[in-house]
Amino acid sequence: MPTQPLHPLPPLREAVKAHGLSASKALGQNFLFDEQLLDRIAAIPGNLDEELVFEVGPGPGGLTRACLRAGAQVIAVERDDRAMPLLAELSDAFPNKLQVLADDALNIDVNAVTGGRPYHIIANLPYNVGTLLFTRWLEPAAWPPQWKSLTLMFQQEVAERIVAPVGSNAYGRLAVLAQWRCNVKIAMKVHRSAFTPPPKVMSAIVHLTPADEPAGVNPRILSRLTEKGFGQRRKMLRQSLKGMDGAIDACEALGIDPTRRAETVSVAEWVALARALSASA
Ligand code: SAM
Repeated sequence: MPTQPLHPLPPLREAVKAHGLSASKALGQNFLFDEQLLDRIAAIPGNLDEELVFEVGPGPGGLTRACLRAGAQVIAVERDDRAMPLLAELSDAFPNKLQVLADDALNIDVNAVTGGRPYHIIANLPYNVGTLLFTRWLEPAAWPPQWKSLTLMFQQEVAERIVAPVGSNAYGRLAVLAQWRCNVKIAMKVHRSAFTPPPKVMSAIVHLTPADEPAGVNPRILSRLTEKGFGQRRKMLRQSLKGMDGAIDACEALGIDPTRRAETVSVAEWVALARALSASA
């Protein structure tokens, strides 16, 4: 059931003005104020009623409001102390539904703060830490992960790298790490004019859910392998994978020609290579 606040909340723009929360470039702040757009974003993971959401960077709380309206319980981490009074008002309006951690998201163990409950991650990510947080969420040794879905706003160029098919210009390490055990899609494109202030580039929201994990693959080996392979993406595999014991032999055993370049190697082939190296590790 959609949830109403205990008392009416001021429109986001007014709340931001009243609290003097001018956008900081250093903190990657580009705010969304269009409540209809925010409701559409909060609908991407499906019905959030009684679900737990972890949000990075609520800022003035537009997306947070939308998740709360959808019936979710929200745990949010925000680095900007100036946003705290505004978020406290939001917490008062939705009693027992919003917990705000005043911290850097990079310091947070999300599985710990969510107390072992399954959760959705929803965020309009700060561009400076977005990719790092994203790759961490993709990395857990145990699969399926504790998160049920990721709904994340990125610069469009980054979103395209996440969903890129093999052989395309955008295909690289991020595509392999995202696609080898997740369903990934671009759920929505968001025009730069929707943000205050508008960023220079367009944005897009990617949505990921866990897929079955291919058996016998050590995620750390896949991570290292793709780091090496795409670290020198214009080089042949026999050159770029030189530093990884057994990798060239594994390519040959699997019929992956070592004169190929990383960008021509499909996700399934990277997985097969990582499996071969995981077996001998
Ligand atoms: N969610 C809001 C919205 O959609 O309007 C704000 C999004 S803004 C792109 C990114 C937010 O992340 C800002 O509020 C910023 O202060 C916060 N932030 C930046 N770096 C952070 C970090 N390392 N940890 C937690 N929050 C961070």
